[in-house]
Amino acid sequence: MNSKGKYAATDEGYYGEFGGAFIPEMLYANVDNLKRNYQQIIEETDFQLELKSLLRDYVGRPTPLYFAKRLSNELNTKIYFKREDLCHTGAHKINNTIGQILLAQRLGKKRIIAETGAGQHGVATATVCALMGLKCIVYMGEIDIARQAPNVQRMKMLGAEVRPALSGSKTLKDATNEAIRDWINNPNDTHYIIGSVVGPHPYPDMVAYFQAVISEEMKVQLKAKTGSENPNYIVACVGGGSNAAGAFYHYLENEEVKLVLVEAAGEGINSGKSAATSILGSQGVIHGSMTLLMQDKYGQIIEPHSISAGLDYPGIGPMHAHLIKSKRAEVYAATDQEAIEAAFHITKTEGIIPALETAHALAILPKMNLLPSDVTVINLSGRGDKDLNNYLEYQPERMHDE
Ligand SMILES: *Cc1c(COP(=O)(O)O)cnc(C)c1O
Repeated sequence: MNSKGKYAATDEGYYGEFGGAFIPEMLYANVDNLKRNYQQIIEETDFQLELKSLLRDYVGRPTPLYFAKRLSNELNTKIYFKREDLCHTGAHKINNTIGQILLAQRLGKKRIIAETGAGQHGVATATVCALMGLKCIVYMGEIDIARQAPNVQRMKMLGAEVRPALSGSKTLKDATNEAIRDWINNPNDTHYIIGSVVGPHPYPDMVAYFQAVISEEMKVQLKAKTGSENPNYIVACVGGGSNAAGAFYHYLENEEVKLVLVEAAGEGINSGKSAATSILGSQGVIHGSMTLLMQDKYGQIIEPHSISAGLDYPGIGPMHAHLIKSKRAEVYAATDQEAIEAAFHITKTEGIIPALETAHALAILPKMNLLPSDVTVINLSGRGDKDLNNYLEYQPERMHDE
């Protein structure tokens, strides 16, 4: 945190011109309390010891770095998967919720709220609340509740209350609005666990720090497997950008390592049904942060679309806005169709069913013109169990194609 490099957050949470804390007055006390305390708490020895032991024994870290042999042969290059799909609860999200629940406890909070899209962050939050015996309320868009039913059931079994967001597109952005509203009404006993590197400072910096364990492990694992801790490319899908932030973190200032973000193009970038924020977006404020977002000429949010509920967000974290603007990171977009095809292909090639979000990152590999000597790490952000219905719906058509 605050490693003070060119691409790290300043003390006020700025990444270049992006970031900061643009919040209503009624939220000021909550955010200020967090901002004044988070760094000191995180640096305390007992915090670090408890975090490390839970990451090891509860989450299952370090996650493996797996050489995808058949895929590498097929593309005539070297591809590694960083297996965040093997984390407890099935995605990288729990790295952050474990960190934030320990922080919330030390801040004396008794009630936890969260927003969720695909339900992965909701499940990861409900899980750590059960672990610590804290009350948990998860806001989720009504449409996402319908398309991610297994995760809704998991949250309920874990003891969380799932509250539907009924406004707007009834997806992730609307759930976030509801969570912010709740926090304004419950400033004293409640901690809001944001699930990505979005929101007002200090969230992007804090969430990136908790996810940074991904690239910390990657360095050691790459060194052991390839002789160098530096890959040529790191590729990650981006919704808000937390799995990408974690995979990039320890390489941000090392410009030899190329950073690649993959956005959801939905039905196509110019189809009117897309979530390709960096291409379709412009500078503005969303959920407390100056960043790139999809907005009309009046500054109203344009509803995003992606088949993947986890990428269906009209903004992008300020760290990524800065990485893109400064050309430190390169952006690709994959459509719904390309993501589904990649998911089937990887499943058959490597025996790993990826999350729909992750499938977007996998989809661009053939377009990258990778050299035989290139080492590429794909952050395999999550597993596809929650997406089986989507996949199965698609399968008859695909089998017909073949
Ligand atoms: C939530 C999620 C994402 C998108 O969120 P980021 O903050 O951009 O990482 C990607 N992959 C999986 C598996 C997810 O659950």
